[in-house]
Amino acid sequence: MHGDTKPSLPVLACCAVDITNTVLKQNRRVLLHGPPGVGKSTLAAQLAHELYKTGQSCYCLCADPGSPAFGLPGAVSLGRWQADGWQMGSYEATCSLDAGRFRLPLVLAVRRLMQSSSLDNEVLLIDTPGVVRGVAGSELLQGLFEAVAADTVLALTVADRAPSLLDELRTLTTQLYVVHASTAAKRPGKRSRARQRTQLWDNSLKNGIEHTLDLNQLNIIGMPPPLGEVSAWAGRQIALLYRNQTQVMAEVRRLQGNQLTVRLPYLPQVFDGLLLRDAQRSINGLMETAVPFAAEPLEYQSPSDTAGSTVQDGGLRVMGRIGPVDFCLVNGILGDPLLHVRLLQQKRSLLFDLGEGVRLPARIAHQVTDVFISHAHIDHIGGFMMLLRSRIGPFPLCRLYGPPGLAQHIEGFLQGILWDRVAERAPCFEVGELHADHLLRFRLQAGRGAPVPLGEVKLKAGVILQDAGFRIRAQRLDHHTPVLAYAFEPTMEINIRKDYLQARGLKPGPWLATLKNHLLAENDTAIITLPDGTVARVADVAADLTLIKPGKKLVYATDLADTPDNRQHLQALAQYAHTFLCEARFMEANAGQAAQTGHLTTRACGEIAMAAKVSRLIPFHFSQRYADKLQEAYDEIHAACSRVAMPPSMAS
Ligand SMILES: [Zn+2]
Ligand SMILES: [Zn+2]
Repeated sequence: MHGDTKPSLPVLACCAVDITNTVLKQNRRVLLHGPPGVGKSTLAAQLAHELYKTGQSCYCLCADPGSPAFGLPGAVSLGRWQADGWQMGSYEATCSLDAGRFRLPLVLAVRRLMQSSSLDNEVLLIDTPGVVRGVAGSELLQGLFEAVAADTVLALTVADRAPSLLDELRTLTTQLYVVHASTAAKRPGKRSRARQRTQLWDNSLKNGIEHTLDLNQLNIIGMPPPLGEVSAWAGRQIALLYRNQTQVMAEVRRLQGNQLTVRLPYLPQVFDGLLLRDAQRSINGLMETAVPFAAEPLEYQSPSDTAGSTVQDGGLRVMGRIGPVDFCLVNGILGDPLLHVRLLQQKRSLLFDLGEGVRLPARIAHQVTDVFISHAHIDHIGGFMMLLRSRIGPFPLCRLYGPPGLAQHIEGFLQGILWDRVAERAPCFEVGELHADHLLRFRLQAGRGAPVPLGEVKLKAGVILQDAGFRIRAQRLDHHTPVLAYAFEPTMEINIRKDYLQARGLKPGPWLATLKNHLLAENDTAIITLPDGTVARVADVAADLTLIKPGKKLVYATDLADTPDNRQHLQALAQYAHTFLCEARFMEANAGQAAQTGHLTTRACGEIAMAAKVSRLIPFHFSQRYADKLQEAYDEIHAACSRVAMPPSMAS
């Protein structure tokens, strides 16, 4: 073409009768293009109604997963006009509300939907998402145009503005009409769009069922968070696929291990895949876009900033945050094991092992309520003296846990000191020793003689402490002497859906606390009485009324031999852990020494983490001899486990 004037475009008023007569008489595949809120969906419905009056059928492919006029959010849906509205037929999932970000999945979903439906000469309107700018808009327009084999574009614009992406439109078709939007068209607000799509989604699940899927049996595609990130799964929209074709869409209730409980309208006969992207029901009950999953960052500090000059350099101190807790390997990855877990909302600290303690500030030591000791080798208990000293004064008792014999070791520490000046201010401890399936408890106070037995507590599944907001599970392992590994398991977060309560006409009251308590105690089969007098199973009520986010597990394991038993037990304890701190004392070249001393090698550490499917591995307790070749040690672990957290200076 010469010159700079391109042919002017035919302009139509936003009148269904006119458009039907001028455009739909000979054109069959009509793409409605334009920014959000310009009135595409309204026009599509008016056109369909116009055709319906003259006895012609009309289909609409709703390709706007974020604000669908009909069908399902997070999907593209095909509908046929029936008297007064669209009747949904088939659909294909994208599991995202974001058409711009996931434009390729959207175009592919539209293409699959077109291939599976048999439209002959019927009119098909394509209601496109309002992404009309930049690369995303341009690619989406071309992709959708080709996927539906469109012949015509109605470009809706506000008043006299030129259509967006005009050059792209001209290259696609000569059947291009500008439609001046009706002045009544107005874009609904963000919240109202969220409510509308949530309504469509809720309707599809209203008479649904709950079903538990075994994730090991399914191919998981899209953008799944790691399996350990249980809270990132709750409320997610998923699709069950068979040969990549959507069979049904569902909402995740909860993930436990590899068991994914979902709510769905019906269970399809066959499915082999699970699709998941970023559509998720948020805490307020609305379908929204999930914050992208990212493992919380770790910090690596050089210890020299806080350490006295007499303390041996422990290498990098790893610290991080998981939900409501901060953790820190106080003596670094080379120093004596001492893990500080800080419960942020409770002004309370837990310690795992008691290696050299000078780096732990006294104000923290005062707030320690529980100490979990792996075993009594000096590098794991030598720091007890620091703790003991910090507890002189009006402090509550401190609980210590460990393998059999711990009470005697603690008594030995206490006996070594003359306690004639402290009287009532003498430090007080309660020691729990793990024997087989029970905890043997003792009370010890400095200056008061032998431990006083407090009896034994029978344990359920190794849970040695059940407390507000978390529990601790212990697992006995072998290090040529018994050692304990520990799992810190935060309690699940239970949110009651107020909108569902309202919809079911149930008044809030003490029964909700009862429901929560049953859920926390995992009494899923307990029976509960609702305010309307009906009774139901806890699991069923929870499925209807709650959004559950399980907590993220942290596991601490050190000083264990590489034996089949140890591997099996530790893998079970660490399964799907969010953060797994595990010793890697020796490199492969010193495997013989690892075997002799009952320690893991770098490779064994990585293999156990992989087998346990943890989200993140933090190796520690490296032998000091590797201070100058930590890069090689990390590389050996990385070769066995891609989930190892590499210090920034070593990330390759
Ligand atoms: Zn040891
Ligand atoms: Zn050790």
